Amino acid sequence: MILILLGAPGVGKGTQGVLISKEYNIPQISTGDILRKEVKEQTELGKKAKAYMDKGELVPDDIIIDMMEKRIKQEDCKNGFILDGFPRTTAQAKAFDEMLQKNGLNLDKVLLIDVPEEEIISRLTGRRVCESCGAVYHIKYNPPKEDGVCDKCGGKLIQRDDDKEEVVRNRLEVYKKSTMPLIYYYKNSGKLVVVDGMGEIEEIFERVKEVLK
Ligand code: AMP
Repeated sequence: MILILLGAPGVGKGTQGVLISKEYNIPQISTGDILRKEVKEQTELGKKAKAYMDKGELVPDDIIIDMMEKRIKQEDCKNGFILDGFPRTTAQAKAFDEMLQKNGLNLDKVLLIDVPEEEIISRLTGRRVCESCGAVYHIKYNPPKEDGVCDKCGGKLIQRDDDKEEVVRNRLEVYKKSTMPLIYYYKNSGKLVVVDGMGEIEEIFERVKEVLK
């Protein structure tokens, strides 16, 4: 199965992606996670990407397309994969279509997770992530047992720089301008399915499974 998760930042693509990945036993590929790792390791790619990410802007298409072309060729992708955070522009979507065609692969579905904007802002600005293992918490909806400490590994919980309110607002603007057109792109191909992203994680996952059947 090849699946794209679409939706604004903060709608729960990452959370649902992990659950789908376990259920169907295929890897979840998050461009944001790959980029953050590159930034942390201060690679050439990471250095180039950081300036864009800090401002909530998109990293240029050619960098992302090249990165993804390499990633989906890896062995663990042979039974399919779930894309979280890619494609994010029409140029990336077109390049991805070509990648699939070249490799004789077929996109199954595009899952759009829908959440109102005010809820997104509250979710993102309250999000905390573990510096060590990447586990995700929310100060109100999913707090750790001890303030600032990861339940899973004891690591320190931090706020991503791009989860600060001003950057969040910019990320939403970028989403509207650059990524929303993809909704129409995939609607036309008949592959788009929409899920209401409000409610409990498990409840949303039930909806997801229903539309992926
Ligand atoms: P995310 O965790 O998916 O919200 O991604 C965090 C940041 O990484 C974004 O704000 C962008 O700067 C960058 N990024 C992630 N995926 C892409 C993509 N497909 N195209 C361009 N930039 C991306």
